[in-house]
Amino acid sequence: MNLFDVYPLYPITPVKALDCIITDEKGIEYLDLYSGHGVISIGHTQPDYVAKVKAQLDNLSFYSNAIQNPLQVELAEKLGKLSGCEEYSLFLCSSGAEANENALKVASFHTNKSRVVSFNNAFHGRTSAAVAATDNPKIVAPMNAQQVVTFLPLNEIELLENELKKGDVACVIIEPIQGVGGLDMGTTSFFQALEKVCNSYEVVLILDEVQSGYGRSGKFFAHQHHGIKPDIICMAKGMGNGFPIGGILTSPKFKASHGLLGTTFGGSHLACAAGIAVLDIIEKEKLMDNAIAIEKYFFEAIKVIPEIIKVKGRGLMLGVEFDFDVSTLRKKMIIDKHIFTGGSSNKNLLRILPPLTVKKENIDTFITALKESLAELKS
Ligand code: PLP
Repeated sequence: MNLFDVYPLYPITPVKALDCIITDEKGIEYLDLYSGHGVISIGHTQPDYVAKVKAQLDNLSFYSNAIQNPLQVELAEKLGKLSGCEEYSLFLCSSGAEANENALKVASFHTNKSRVVSFNNAFHGRTSAAVAATDNPKIVAPMNAQQVVTFLPLNEIELLENELKKGDVACVIIEPIQGVGGLDMGTTSFFQALEKVCNSYEVVLILDEVQSGYGRSGKFFAHQHHGIKPDIICMAKGMGNGFPIGGILTSPKFKASHGLLGTTFGGSHLACAAGIAVLDIIEKEKLMDNAIAIEKYFFEAIKVIPEIIKVKGRGLMLGVEFDFDVSTLRKKMIIDKHIFTGGSSNKNLLRILPPLTVKKENIDTFITALKESLAELKS
């Protein structure tokens, strides 16, 4: 049987990994500055994480959500403490799009409305609801997408208020830092005004932290840089360090009722073991502090490359922008320099999304390789 060929593939076959280093089948080592779309938070095959997941696999990997699972309670308690969101409640699922879809559902049930406001260049995932809320011309909203979505520019609070005034909006969904869209972000004054107008028009404010959450921005959630409290927070990627786990945090304004949401795989014993290990390691290894320290180092060190027209992002969700399409440069960095970086829908942006354990010397390696690659491409 063939694979359904939907991904362009680089000719590399990784077989093992440790922390920020991936080794391929020929024994060649690659520096991972992309974490497989921001999924690897605590470093590849972190030993305490591996031990915890293996031990859980030996005992019980899965049973139904209709049976008590103390690991879900432990995960919720640890997550509440480390994120500073103890007053929220946790619903677990298995991916980012599923988290967003559940958030849109909760908002719609709560307001009895269905219109969604999202932002230009937003990316919220590939389930029907999440796709509909995604402004990417390559992704076509499926015929059965129920909700009507309005896309607005970031940082235009008057335009936003004009939409909310119409009285038919269930929710606003926004990424604190746009990932796939190319690292644009709302300002603090925009986020604070957004929170205020959502509250005054009783519209649910959803923060999609699927990529920016779990310490990547230097705070547990990136919206915490703006001092706001959203109604719903969506999480996934960094949550399981490669084990598929996602979730939403709902503020106390939402009442749970049996049957409101559901999932087969979400919150399994194995997923919770992975999720608990990730939280323990983020805390123990002070990975949010590392994200801040490396961000600072990166912004300073990258100045030696004059071809860069802009450095974007925050924490370890960074990008360097050029005045040309970076696809050849990115390929050269992988094939010749053995460094994984990322692209985005902004073709001129090279994204740096490393494990939160990344070190200054890894950034130095990247900058030297980038300098050499730019020179080689010119010659
Ligand atoms: N939301 C954001 C901000 C994302 O970056 C992504 C994935 O890139 C998603 C949602 C979708 O997550 P998943 O691919 O796990 O469904």
